[in-house]
Amino acid sequence: MGKIQMVDLKSQYLRLKPEIDKAIEDVIMSTAFINGQPVKDFARNLEEYLDCKYVIPCGNGTDALQIAMMALGFAPGDEILVPAFTYVATVEVIALLGLKPVFVEVDPNTFNIDTKDLKKKITPKSAGIVPVHLYGQCADMEPIMQIAAENDLRVIEDTAQALGAEYTFSDGTVKKAGTIGDIGTTSFFPSKNLGCFGDGGAIMTNHSELADLLKMIANHGQKVKYHHDTIGVNSRLDSIQAAVLDVKLKELDDFARSRRQVADNYDKAFQGNKLISIPHRSENSTHVFHQYTLILDKSINRDKFKEELHKNGVPSMVYYPLPIHLQKAYENYGFNKGDFPVSEELCDRVISLPIHTEMKEEDQTFIIKTFLTTLTDHVR
Ligand SMILES: *Cc1c(COP(=O)(O)O)cnc(C)c1O
Repeated sequence: MGKIQMVDLKSQYLRLKPEIDKAIEDVIMSTAFINGQPVKDFARNLEEYLDCKYVIPCGNGTDALQIAMMALGFAPGDEILVPAFTYVATVEVIALLGLKPVFVEVDPNTFNIDTKDLKKKITPKSAGIVPVHLYGQCADMEPIMQIAAENDLRVIEDTAQALGAEYTFSDGTVKKAGTIGDIGTTSFFPSKNLGCFGDGGAIMTNHSELADLLKMIANHGQKVKYHHDTIGVNSRLDSIQAAVLDVKLKELDDFARSRRQVADNYDKAFQGNKLISIPHRSENSTHVFHQYTLILDKSINRDKFKEELHKNGVPSMVYYPLPIHLQKAYENYGFNKGDFPVSEELCDRVISLPIHTEMKEEDQTFIIKTFLTTLTDHVR
């Protein structure tokens, strides 16, 4: 048995090696490294997979969020509602564009934006909502879209962790994460569920005018070369990354199945244990398990426990140790400890275990056994 890793990208590559190597070599031979055919092909294939009219590839998931906010015409001072418990990128671009992040508490079960608190945080200055589908499960999009419609707000879904997850509406309609709001954004960072061999991202929309604008902004604000109609950025997915992604896209549902199998095994081993809460599974969303995240009992010293796990050969991660409203960079928005008790407590108590598409049964058996004995020893 080799060393256990949080994510095993190498084994996944070795399984797909012939096809990926050929795709990369084809790009090199074509020398169309930027805006080559693979970029167009991948965008079309992702549109088809998501059942979404327009996919615009870009440089990474953070750019995708920024370009989305620029296209929606948010103006300085506009308030953008965003969960307090998320990865920093979501909030960073709001601040960068001179918009005001308004933090919203998260649901302690799903880790996603709390729609009751969302309603309370709306003011006449509110312009948009950025729900994040954290860890691979959709935020509760039906009430979110309803709140947005009632208050004339735009919705950008941060789908960096949940590409392929499906949300079911009360009328039975099923839609893929990222295709429900005005715009969806995602990341192809190597460890994401659909990951390339470097940086990559994409923006999704069903609105043709928005799609034109998004495309233009991602390309220096030009539609016709050297004619710049708006201020843009330079954000591209390169052909080699697109070629890799196009091979992996065919496997994405299989990847999700493998991850779910790992999660099911963990659930089975951990459910009923009073010292940990297993991930809640929403009725209206599938879970693609970008992360398998447990909540530890209050009595456990997480940092110490994590160290003990590490010593016993099991890596773990904390996503995320500090909520955004308590980060130094965001102090100026005037929030204090205690303002978002659920987010703060989750930051203190969550722990994520290894999960990936190539988990061997014997490795998972080892992780489960080691996790449980380390836990017993810790509380003894
Ligand atoms: C990874 C991630 C991003 C940013 O993606 P990059 O490609 O690294 O820029 C944004 N939001 C969430 C929730 C993420 O997990």
